[in-house]
Amino acid sequence: MTDQRTLRERLAELPLGRQVALLSGGSFWGSEAIPELDLAAVTLTDGPHGVRRQPDGADHLGIGGSVPATCFPTASCLASSWDPELLHEVGAALGHEALAGGVGVLLGPGMNIKRHPGGGRNFEYFSEDPLLSGRLATGMIRGIQSTGVAACPKHFVANNLESYRMVSDSVVDERTLRELYLRGFEIAVREARPRTIMTAYNLVNGEYVADSHRLLQGVLRDEWGFDGLVVTDWGGINDRVAGVRAGVDLEMPSSGGAHDDAVVDAVESGDLDAETVLERVEAVARLLGESPAGPALPVDEVGHHRLARRAAAAGTVLLANDGILPLDASLDVAIIGGFAAEPRYQGAGSSQVVPTRLDDARRHLEERLTGRVRYLSGYDDVRAAAELAGDADAAVVFVGLPAIDEAEGYDRSTLALPAAHDELVTAVCAANPRTVVVLANGAPVLMPWADRPAAIVESYLGGQAAGSAIASVLVGDTEPGGRLAESFPASMVFPSEENFAGSTRQVQYREGLYVGYRFHDTAAVAARFAFGHGLSYTSFEWSEPRVDELTVRVTVTNTGDRCGSDVVQVYVHDVESTVYRPDRELAGFAKVHLGPGASADVEITLDDRSFAYYDVDEARWRTEAGAFDVVVAHSSVDVHATIRIDVDGETITTPPAGAAGPGRRRFVATVTEFEQMLGRPVPHPVPVLPFTVNTVVDELDATRLGRLARRAFLEVADRQTATLLGDDPDPVLLALGRRMIREAPLRFLVSMSGGRGSIRAFHGLTKLLSALRIAGRRG
Ligand code: BGC
Repeated sequence: MTDQRTLRERLAELPLGRQVALLSGGSFWGSEAIPELDLAAVTLTDGPHGVRRQPDGADHLGIGGSVPATCFPTASCLASSWDPELLHEVGAALGHEALAGGVGVLLGPGMNIKRHPGGGRNFEYFSEDPLLSGRLATGMIRGIQSTGVAACPKHFVANNLESYRMVSDSVVDERTLRELYLRGFEIAVREARPRTIMTAYNLVNGEYVADSHRLLQGVLRDEWGFDGLVVTDWGGINDRVAGVRAGVDLEMPSSGGAHDDAVVDAVESGDLDAETVLERVEAVARLLGESPAGPALPVDEVGHHRLARRAAAAGTVLLANDGILPLDASLDVAIIGGFAAEPRYQGAGSSQVVPTRLDDARRHLEERLTGRVRYLSGYDDVRAAAELAGDADAAVVFVGLPAIDEAEGYDRSTLALPAAHDELVTAVCAANPRTVVVLANGAPVLMPWADRPAAIVESYLGGQAAGSAIASVLVGDTEPGGRLAESFPASMVFPSEENFAGSTRQVQYREGLYVGYRFHDTAAVAARFAFGHGLSYTSFEWSEPRVDELTVRVTVTNTGDRCGSDVVQVYVHDVESTVYRPDRELAGFAKVHLGPGASADVEITLDDRSFAYYDVDEARWRTEAGAFDVVVAHSSVDVHATIRIDVDGETITTPPAGAAGPGRRRFVATVTEFEQMLGRPVPHPVPVLPFTVNTVVDELDATRLGRLARRAFLEVADRQTATLLGDDPDPVLLALGRRMIREAPLRFLVSMSGGRGSIRAFHGLTKLLSALRIAGRRG
């Protein structure tokens, strides 16, 4: 006889302790099983550009090994395709690989906004623009979930830097939060209905995201209708009871029951509603119930490698080209730069996968070029490189960022390339003006030499097939299909630079909405390469656009003699606004692929939200009635046509709080302006003393006993990392492991100890270490 009771009724019969236990992982990468309901545990695995499945030696920084999987291009590369359909395909391939490995939840896509181009994990994120981010994430989530595997967009929300990420408070005004940082998640949640979502480690406006009822229940569930499971980032739970109350369903990884008693006590004392616990358990049970079971199809490794190559080429951006590209294959070519032979193709940390195969550009170019080809690593012998280049018809120089610059847990302290790479480019260009620079980096770099090379190709971190993709782009077998999804600044002059990784525990988002092109275009501070920019090997003609009923129509014709793709970008500009607004905001886009001579009618439909701003006083989106310019463009600065339209909306008579924003003189709010935007005083950062379980290991240095404790923690961590890394440790991963512990709050050590640590003991320890501070010296 079938059981007629609802899932909730059946779960309600489990003892409270058992219910609470289900709200934490059963292992490092798995939930608990619920045999009482015949539900198997589900495995959750990184993400976002490859399936990082660890059979043993669990860690979440990419330190221990994992089973080989296709390393697709990183998010920064995929995003440059501006092609949600391509992301759908990649998502589906990831889903299949996950399925084949018995993984039920893939921890991606990463979709935080690139507030600062030096954000250490920018390579894992899509864009500085929330609409583009949201649409791309939608494609990827739908792709992953088309296989039955659940996607897990992350890190919700305002996780825009790595420094002190587990204790850092993102102080951001409500309008900016809504319009920039939440918006991409909102699009993805509403349109793709991800079955899970991951909370960020950080605080937003003084409250840990994992404690925030306002964000998890109010915004995510009540406003956006999210009906999936909320999981913490690994070790990212702050206050377990607050988390359950706020809306966290699953704490990961297993903390070995370290917090269970607190939750049970809270229910028994009436502090936490038993129904709330049951609601969370139901979310877990639903995820388990919906997770795919049974045999999966074998993975088409070769097909996925090919898809990875296609995606890498689609995300490759031709930044500059005087006509040298595509390369004439019969030329005598000098290939210079170690990255040609040993590619950089992904970043370090939790997203790092062991690829199934690895292409290098050198070999693929050698195969494809028919003229003489010579290679030199060159980074440590600039003179020899220049000589070689001078003796060739053309030079291709591979430069980029070293692995340590793009690692989880670190922000970049400069946007510059290593000095040796800059010198190499300058010397080779001087020796041979017919030089092509190929960049390998997951985020913008400064290019003081930008006007020297004959061509510049941004290949990003293009995954395991990046090498062959670049070779085929260089010789013109494939087009470089990308447009920048982020601005490449010409210098360090942009507003978020003033409030980035400076203070350890607090970041003030004083630039408000002036992030990326929203700043460059409004302030008329030209980026080196603008958001949306990218050249093609063919040429396109766009018709005069028309706008009817909020639909923009334009005909795109490929007027060249090669296949190619183009991206029509539509921005809006409020002609006269009561609230401050960036000059241009992306409101829609479309990608078209066209053969020579072919045309396509492109339609981009805008909606109310395209013109709206978030009104903080009324807590809702409002459109101010009046004239708007609809800007049809090739990039945020390369405008094809501007059409002025009248938009129905409200007449705004009373400007809402913060309407003036950061002011257009500096684009960084003064204290007074920031307080108006926030609607409250700028909060003081949390003091280091007294210590709490949120004190990070490095801060323990503030007292003498603390220093001893810090040393002990680091010794244990080093031993563990050494065990995972074996005899020949990768220095980047070694540094990563250490940094992670140095910047981890004490409670994180408990959460990650798999039950060996006790939060009560840590509370006691911090009291003791603080009390004895008189005996200590600072520093
Ligand atoms: C990262 C997440 C990742 C998790 C599991 C965390 O450190 O922030 O992005 O999914 O680890 O590896």
